Amino acid sequence: MALLEVDDIEVRYGAIRALKGVSFDVEEGEVVALLGANGAGKTTTQKTVSGMMRPALGEIRFDGERIDGVPAHTLIHRGICHVPEGRRVFPRMSVKENLEMGAFRFKRPDKQVLDHVMELFPRLQERITQFAGTLSGGEQQMLAIGRALMGKPRLLLLDEPSMGLAPLIVQQIFEIVREINGEGVTVLIVEQNAAQALALANRGYVLETGEVVLSGSGKDLLADDRVRAAYLGEE
Ligand code: ATP
Repeated sequence: MALLEVDDIEVRYGAIRALKGVSFDVEEGEVVALLGANGAGKTTTQKTVSGMMRPALGEIRFDGERIDGVPAHTLIHRGICHVPEGRRVFPRMSVKENLEMGAFRFKRPDKQVLDHVMELFPRLQERITQFAGTLSGGEQQMLAIGRALMGKPRLLLLDEPSMGLAPLIVQQIFEIVREINGEGVTVLIVEQNAAQALALANRGYVLETGEVVLSGSGKDLLADDRVRAAYLGEE
């Protein structure tokens, strides 16, 4: 049994069917990438898994139990932590306070996890008292990931962590995601940056207008002509 099983979900915004029967699974310990053009339904898929949206049809199971329709604030207690598109740090709170917010499901933040986040992101340590709104884009992304880690996720959902960041920072973020995964956290990542996402991922799914059109190992997708033409800018 996979840790996450998404079974034929349909998700609508009013009359728009954003997902038209999407199925995929994520095994414990894997990194799985969701790829696709703008509007393909990647963000909607993640929002539905994290409980921000409810599917009209289909089922989602986490660790064998139905979770579709269970709200996000409840799923956090099950260990599903979502780093949304655009980071959404609390700008008028310090870096430390932002990190502590990530641990809200516990009585108090775990000092060991906080120390570990500081180790992963020394930049955050240096800026611990600074308002999050004054951080650079890359630092805000680090903070958003660090905040999610404070919730001790079993499944980490990352929505376009590389968006708008310089190549060097993107590389750092991907390395950290690899490290986090190596520590046992399962990852479902949405990325426009297909080459880097597939190099990291065990497996990937390609979405097109609300449907899965292709899936395979990271390696196979990286070598697939259709993927290369559509997402890697090759002829
Ligand atoms: P992007 O990379 O641009 O974020 P995406 O693959 O994440 O794209 P979604 O954001 O999931 O795609 O959008 C899927 C479809 O649902 C699109 O057609 C989009 O216009 C539509 N959609 C998304 N959010 C809403 C909304 N709040 N109201 C109406 N339609 C929406």
